[in-house]
Amino acid sequence: MTLEERIAQVQENIARAARAAGRDPAEVTLVAATKVQSSDTIRRAIAGGVTICGENRVQEMTAHLDDDAYAGAALHFIGHLQTNKVRQVVGRVELIESVGSAHLLEAIEAQAAKLDLVQDILLEVNIGGEDSKSGVAPEEVPALAEKAMACPHVRLRGLMAIPPIQEEPGGNRAFFAKMAQLYVDIRQKLDHNGTVINCLSMGMSGDYEDAVREGATLVRVGTALFGPRPPMKQG
Ligand SMILES: *Cc1c(COP(=O)(O)O)cnc(C)c1O
Repeated sequence: MTLEERIAQVQENIARAARAAGRDPAEVTLVAATKVQSSDTIRRAIAGGVTICGENRVQEMTAHLDDDAYAGAALHFIGHLQTNKVRQVVGRVELIESVGSAHLLEAIEAQAAKLDLVQDILLEVNIGGEDSKSGVAPEEVPALAEKAMACPHVRLRGLMAIPPIQEEPGGNRAFFAKMAQLYVDIRQKLDHNGTVINCLSMGMSGDYEDAVREGATLVRVGTALFGPRPPMKQG
């Protein structure tokens, strides 16, 4: 299959999973996880129907921005963000999906204030309680969400999670359901007009249909679009 065919197929699968769950397929948007892809591949994906690109690494993202590779699509930062790299990301992406600590939130607020803009963010939740993963513990979400709501240069748009790697199909459904509950809770508590907190980012190549069934509004898919990647280096 070509890249264009895989994009169409993943979008069809998303729509089918949404309809099967009684949801409007328009509520769910594919985020193409473009790490290690070339600028040309990114352009081809956007021409093929991708409307949001998600990047993990600041250095790769900066190179693609210099190339104007994301033209025609929105850009999300989805990787681990170190506070010393916040300057290279704030104001350059529509959404930072991976804010998993008060420390990072404060650094983003400070940089956004300096640039006099409002940065949209999601809070990353360590839903599987894994030591190896960043993100805030589920029970700490309400407090960090309140803190984000109090930041004048940050707009809290919702939650994101990367659940544990599963061997069995359907293994993450319970984590997705738990995320959906957390999301509904912060919406009810903090989003008084019901329009700002509207992003729940969860699901990757192996489980995005389950994530859609459980309420995801953004699914981040790499391998199912672009094929397998070489092993990841840290950074
Ligand atoms: C790479 C990546 C994805 C996509 O993973 P695939 O399994 O290749 O679909 C999703 N989210 C994040 C944060 C990633 O780094």
